[in-house]
Amino acid sequence: LEINLSPISETEEDWAGVLIVLHDITAMRRLERMRSEFVANVSHELKTPIAAVKGFAETLLAGALNDKETAKSFLQIIFDESERLNRLIGDILELSKVESKRIPLQFSPVLLNTLLANCLNVMKTEAKKKLIELELIAPEDLYMEADEDRLRQIMINLLSNGINYTPEGGKVKLKVEPVASGSEGKEADRIRFTISDTGIGIPKKDLPRIFERFYRVDKARSRSSGGTGLGLSIVKHLVELHQGTIRVESEVGIGSKFIIELPILH
Ligand code: ADP
Repeated sequence: LEINLSPISETEEDWAGVLIVLHDITAMRRLERMRSEFVANVSHELKTPIAAVKGFAETLLAGALNDKETAKSFLQIIFDESERLNRLIGDILELSKVESKRIPLQFSPVLLNTLLANCLNVMKTEAKKKLIELELIAPEDLYMEADEDRLRQIMINLLSNGINYTPEGGKVKLKVEPVASGSEGKEADRIRFTISDTGIGIPKKDLPRIFERFYRVDKARSRSSGGTGLGLSIVKHLVELHQGTIRVESEVGIGSKFIIELPILH
């Protein structure tokens, strides 16, 4: 609590009273702390790839350039780490945009079947590399009002996680269905999207935290698959911008299920 006292007076000697201003700064402090934690996290995440680029470039300059094979592998690392920096910065900018709620959504009628088939198509190559089967279960002619690009972004993020965290030969499934809230017999007013995989799963203790920015169950694994640790926080914000909800169910060694519900109309 911050307390400010100031005299209220007509002239120097003649006091009319005292103005007391009580300022609750807890919320401000909390915000300030969250912001500085975020900056610390971001700096830490950016430092790792920059250190790699710098280190390998230095070694090349110091003479490693003369051995062609070594030089090539070092340059590959520099290239990969630059890509990683690019992805990180892209995700950080995206997150700060969706967090500040500065992005106005462009709602329009979306034919789900077409949009989702398109998302699966985008992920086909990644899935094929790991012999992962992709399946879409969606009724034909199902429409909803959504921001098409953002909805695509949500689905691609979750499908991509599904593929990343599922071993070879597994399966990633996207199921879509209309659901009605409230009593039975009511007309559907929401769409439920369920993205499930037969992957490594998420330990119970980590489940409540996976939507936090930069939170990763296994840092090394996330890094090696190109993860930034920001995907799920971006997804959660995009879902909330659509007035929707997201939850997760998972079992280690069996698989994970992300369930999103969005209103049909806005
Ligand atoms: P990342 O870029 O690390 O994938 P995300 O924000 O997308 O970051 O996810 C956060 C963490 O949640 C991941 O690092 C991973 O540990 C866990 N996770 C997300 N999706 C899945 C999934 N389908 N299966 C298992 N773990 C997952």
